Amino acid sequence: MSEVRLQIKNLCKSFGITRAVQDVSFDIMKGEVHALIGENGSGKSTLTNCLTGIYSKDSGQFILDGKEINPRNQVEANDEGVSIIVQELGTLDSLTVAENIFLGHENKFVKFGIKNTAAMNSQANDLLKQYGFDRIKASEMVDSYNFEDRKLVEIVKATYFNPKIVVVDETTTALSQEGREELYKHINRIREEGNTVIFISHDLQEVLRMSDSITVLRDGVYIDTVKSADVNEDDLKKLMVGREVSGSYYRADYGEAVSDEVVLTAKGVTVPGLIQDISFELHKGEILGFGGLSESGMHEVGKAVFGASFDREGSVTLSDGTGIKDIPTAIAHSMAYTSKDRDNESVVMNQGIGDNICLPSLDSISNKAGILMSKKMKEFAGKHAATMSVKMVNTDQFVSDLSGGNKQKVVLARWIGKDSDILVLDSPTRGIDIKVKQDIYQLMDRMRKEGKSIIMISEEMAELIGMCDRILIMKDGRINAELMRDPNMDENKLIEQMV
Ligand code: ADP
Ligand code: MG
Repeated sequence: MSEVRLQIKNLCKSFGITRAVQDVSFDIMKGEVHALIGENGSGKSTLTNCLTGIYSKDSGQFILDGKEINPRNQVEANDEGVSIIVQELGTLDSLTVAENIFLGHENKFVKFGIKNTAAMNSQANDLLKQYGFDRIKASEMVDSYNFEDRKLVEIVKATYFNPKIVVVDETTTALSQEGREELYKHINRIREEGNTVIFISHDLQEVLRMSDSITVLRDGVYIDTVKSADVNEDDLKKLMVGREVSGSYYRADYGEAVSDEVVLTAKGVTVPGLIQDISFELHKGEILGFGGLSESGMHEVGKAVFGASFDREGSVTLSDGTGIKDIPTAIAHSMAYTSKDRDNESVVMNQGIGDNICLPSLDSISNKAGILMSKKMKEFAGKHAATMSVKMVNTDQFVSDLSGGNKQKVVLARWIGKDSDILVLDSPTRGIDIKVKQDIYQLMDRMRKEGKSIIMISEEMAELIGMCDRILIMKDGRINAELMRDPNMDENKLIEQMV
């Protein structure tokens, strides 16, 4: 019989009129990986943020090893033996890697009022080495590293002190396959040491593979806790959405001819050190996929096409001859781009949903004299937020308050509002649950039928296979293969070309 590690009793948390967590109670055991699943906005992050002192709960109790805990911040939570790798970026730009790892616990390195930076860096470097993350250096500023490496820093920060409970909130969506394997290793280690991992992920395969038990939330309400060994993906989907979900949700057509009309031509596009001699044509009404390992250069292709790369060589030309060299030209010619790194590049977090949606369309919303009209902006934002069914209180709400999937909807609503003809979508469904994913796939299918052209860059092979007319596989900065839409395509065919 396993022992209870954490009892959650009658937990409640609201944000204004949003009841994010409603009277939730369940137990989590020692030495288990306990997954928490539910659609976007079901309250997973709110629950774990209350546990780890990021939010203060309204009522209810957390009982850890028989004793009630009430951390008021993450440092207090760490002192109780609870840590979290948060869903969004959890490192601070203005600090070094070492300072991030030991944030709030610097006094370990203070003697006679003086911080011993050398000792701190040396201990951080030892840890990074132990974790196999040697390429990250303790004394460097954390913002000199990319999103993935910063997540690895967070793994160290959250686990080095052997906490009793580690919360992993949607971390895997930010990681490449290699990064995921690293994380899995540490999750398994924590479990073997008799400690507990609360694992939040949208990837149900991963949830089934990694967890011992699974708790399902829906709209802030507790639905059920099941043993992972007793259920399959369809059972989980049913519990999450409360109805039968059909297995396939990608576009269903095969063998439809794509128009000959070319809307965009890339020729010899090179970004030194990242991509080399990329040439392709994008057709009207086509969904063109880019796949590859995360460092293959595919994410840079999206930026380069949109005129957002530094030092780009080669050309990107639209059918009317316009060369795309910078972002303003791209936007003025009906191109749209959503970044993989949604929080840093795609949305303005400290602005309202409405402002975010209106941003690229301000020209058309303002009157002849160029004066913005707030009523018109409100209508515009409201309309497009509704098309995407963004789950929100109103369009004045800050984007930073939304769940990941809803942030993504805001990003897409912005470009749909602009009625873009060419969309470059980098990882459009990263960290998004099945229902919103389905919405996005249906939207892409609709746009393709309306004659819009889409470049979809994705690390998820299933969606590339399911949605694209054609897939270009990148390897070491170059296009390595071209695969046409085919009902018999499987992931192995893609992988063969990636490695
Ligand atoms: P999940 O992690 O399951 O996707 P969240 O816990 O992030 O869901 O969100 C649950 C609900 O609470 C959502 O409706 C979300 O918009 C709302 N919410 C979450 N955080 C905040 C916040 N800081 N301010 C206002 N509303 C929030
Ligand atoms: Mg969340």
